[in-house]
Amino acid sequence: THTKSEEIIVKTQKFGANNYYPLPIVISKAEGVWVESPEGDRYMDMLSAYSAVNQGHRHPKIIQALKDQADKVTLTSRAFHSDQLGPWYEKVSKLTKKNMVLPMNTGAEAVETALKAARRWGYDVKGIAENQAEIIACNGNFHGRTMGAVSLSSDPEYKRGFGPMLPGIKLIPYGDIDALKAAITPNTAAFLIEPIQGEAGIIVPPQGFLKAAAELCKENNVLFIADEIQAGLGRTGKMFACEWEEVIPDMLILGKALGGGVFPISCVVANSDVLGVFNPGSHGSTFGGNPLACAVSIAALDVLVDENLVERSLDLGNYFLEQIKSIPCPIIKEVRGKGLFIGVELTEEARPYCEQLKDEGLLCKETHDTVIRFAPPLIISKEEIDWAVEKIKKVLAAK
Ligand code: PLP
Repeated sequence: THTKSEEIIVKTQKFGANNYYPLPIVISKAEGVWVESPEGDRYMDMLSAYSAVNQGHRHPKIIQALKDQADKVTLTSRAFHSDQLGPWYEKVSKLTKKNMVLPMNTGAEAVETALKAARRWGYDVKGIAENQAEIIACNGNFHGRTMGAVSLSSDPEYKRGFGPMLPGIKLIPYGDIDALKAAITPNTAAFLIEPIQGEAGIIVPPQGFLKAAAELCKENNVLFIADEIQAGLGRTGKMFACEWEEVIPDMLILGKALGGGVFPISCVVANSDVLGVFNPGSHGSTFGGNPLACAVSIAALDVLVDENLVERSLDLGNYFLEQIKSIPCPIIKEVRGKGLFIGVELTEEARPYCEQLKDEGLLCKETHDTVIRFAPPLIISKEEIDWAVEKIKKVLAAK
């Protein structure tokens, strides 16, 4: 006999494309930091859907906004105005201190939007000769899975069999200011960077790099674009991770927690001297900025602010980091991160430990083979962190 979970996993594997390698656990319910299997087993979520659930699963205020809006109107397309888009624009604009917002649905789409904006800005404003625009990105980056985003990648497995790639892309080592200096040419439109690299394994750039890079970009009339899709919206203990170095990017890319883990919404924000390069017909999305997404996002952003989740992330993140650092374990190579965005690098494959942690009731996922990422919903309590630390100790300190 098979459990319900086993049956579901078999069906999922039978009919689904094989582009993911999930841990063998089925989630059928969730609330706050906790998720539950069909058998009623409870687990603490230490991944938060790659930081999309910063506000916690099914936050009541966000769910209420979803329900209320679902009873009114869910989709208008951009052929007409909706009553939710303007108010959402205003909220995002105030939060980011930029005066123009362009909505999309997923992170990768927002990255595509930023690439298009940067190139068009390069031609129309900077004066780069036609089709010569270059974008600089970083080794180890992760900006999504669309053709533009994988063209930026330095990982051969993300690109294999998908060529030809987008031209006009240069890569530099993450955090290497001299390499950035050397890579900039008169044809450089933009430098695109994750202020902390997420998928690469929670890589924090050397102190001062972001600031120096932003200054270098300014001197050379190059747009500094921050992909804050995973690191932004409180994850690192600041509203935006660039604030760690008081950097104000020319363009910000947001996604994930922008929809509170309830409804997909992403966006690019910048001032009108940059985003003003789009005109009707040059870009868009049927679902981008739909009223359901906007209503959910307004509530999601309110929750981040009203519940002080950014400060919470900073305080509890520091605490959690110290607790993990104090675990005696010879296979821990490094513990790093900011806020509740923590990577534990092991000297060996992380997957078996993620599986053991799952058996202890803690859900986390390995990233880049040897790193375990701990990124719980920001609503997590200190007591819940203590509970998690006990489990982590049990699995890692035994080594
Ligand atoms: N950019 C960063 C920094 C990300 O972490 C991700 C997703 O993990 C993306 C872009 C892509 O977002 P999406 O999966 O919503 O397309």
